[in-house]
Amino acid sequence: MAHGAPLSEAPIRPVISVKNPATGAPVADYPVADREAVAAAAARARRAQPGWAAVGFAERARILRQVRDKLVDEKDRICAVVSGETGKPHHDVITNELLFLCDAIGFWGKRAARYLSDERARPHLLKNKRAYVSYHPYPVVGIIGPWNFPFNLTIGEAIPALMAGCTVIIKPSEVTPGSALLGAELAAAAGLPSGVLQVVTGYGETGQHVIDFADMICFTGSVATGRKVAERCGQLLKPVTLELGGKDPMIVLRDADLERASSACVYGGLVNAGQVCISVERVYVEEPVYDAFVQKVVDKVRHVRQGPPGAGLVEVGAMTFPPQIDKVERHVADAMAHGARVLVGGKRRTDLPGLYFEPTVLVDVNHDMDVMRDETFGPVIPIMRVRDEEEAIHLANDSRYGLDASVWTKDLARGARVARRVQSGAVCVNDVMVNFAVTEVPMGGWKESGVGHRHGPGGIRKFCAQQTVVIDRFGTRSEINWWPMTPRKVKLFRRVLNLFGSGWRRKLLGS
Ligand code: NDP
Repeated sequence: MAHGAPLSEAPIRPVISVKNPATGAPVADYPVADREAVAAAAARARRAQPGWAAVGFAERARILRQVRDKLVDEKDRICAVVSGETGKPHHDVITNELLFLCDAIGFWGKRAARYLSDERARPHLLKNKRAYVSYHPYPVVGIIGPWNFPFNLTIGEAIPALMAGCTVIIKPSEVTPGSALLGAELAAAAGLPSGVLQVVTGYGETGQHVIDFADMICFTGSVATGRKVAERCGQLLKPVTLELGGKDPMIVLRDADLERASSACVYGGLVNAGQVCISVERVYVEEPVYDAFVQKVVDKVRHVRQGPPGAGLVEVGAMTFPPQIDKVERHVADAMAHGARVLVGGKRRTDLPGLYFEPTVLVDVNHDMDVMRDETFGPVIPIMRVRDEEEAIHLANDSRYGLDASVWTKDLARGARVARRVQSGAVCVNDVMVNFAVTEVPMGGWKESGVGHRHGPGGIRKFCAQQTVVIDRFGTRSEINWWPMTPRKVKLFRRVLNLFGSGWRRKLLGS
């Protein structure tokens, strides 16, 4: 016991103390769920799951639509809580958290039954068999989420799992636990049965406990933590999907619409203070349009308003996590030390109490610099001049990441051709980030950006164990490969094998 501590037998319970990054003011304290607490949550989830699965798709969709109504009614409270722990403007909570989430409820509510219905297959060889695949929800899904979209990447990620008939335990980031807690509270108030959606707050250790007690893990976060999660899931042989970081390239070709491309660059690089996994993190512009493009981006960045969420309409709020602003500062300093120039911004703001980094444009950058190689995750747009399309593609692919990318050209065929050569899980042509809203198609990373994906049919099937059923159609007394083996059967099988060979001689006579 520390010197001078009160002589009490009561254990000191660890807590998470959350501060508002826009002001530095304390927000709330949350408990740290230990192993027993997570085990208890998992036990509650296991008890609730059979009933939740049994109500069927239509009823689950109906209950989730009630949850959606609740979210719509409580949007101001949600904005206050999410903004209070992230520092983002309220309109960002509406557009980039709640709109996606509410749309996801309608999408999965309508599609889940189709995506998870039995899939019949026609055996190409064994015509006397029937075969189909059925999908069985994992009873308890663990969702471990990041702090940058603390509502959508926790409650939103849970929607397809819930529609599949799983129960969900969310471990939100220690930086933003209040958002998921509020989401779960509103869902319960709207009629989601007890034990179906739970939140356990804590640090990384609580995440490890969730891995130990859940049946499947859906992780969104950094590459470094993703490796630890994958390692633990590997030891336990548990299925896992990993949605990790990105270093998304934007390729601006000489025939691009520079007005649209520059606006997209500013939005894609700065929205959510650049703390988006699919932010525009590096820009390659073909020589002939480089100067005009840079000028447009700089002009537009100068007009971006930045400040606390409550101080009138601003586009860029605070950064969320203190170590993140240090990283941004390091990246900009490293770039400048290696010859980059700052055209606008470039430093931490000291005139505001919270965590603000000025919207920044860097030029004269190259791939020796951290800002072009590591995920910056801040309001920084580094722009590089390239000779031609080939060099742009080469540099875009010179990365350990491969999450998202964009290509800009008025020639859509050229855009599609370049997109195909970019090593990335998604590529937008003449758009940025928008693939996240096209829920019909998968979103997931190549290389170190992840394993597995969200959205599309696979975005709900991943929450299920897949079962193949093969049924004999005719009920004959035996099968030809069953015993007893006879010389005639052996001869027959040897002849059948010859048929797989190429050339008539091999097919008829063997080798
Ligand atoms: P982290 O990897 O630091 O944390 C993610 C979650 O993992 C947090 O809840 C964290 O808890 C938890 N955690 C930490 N250690 C462990 C552990 N050993 N076992 C289990 N869970 C653990 O990511 P950030 O929160 O910093 O999020 C930012 C990152 O997320 C960026 O790299 C970004 O690109 C990526 N991201 C990817 C997306 C995608 O779809 N590909 C979308 C959004 C973000 P705690 O916070 O308490 O440490």
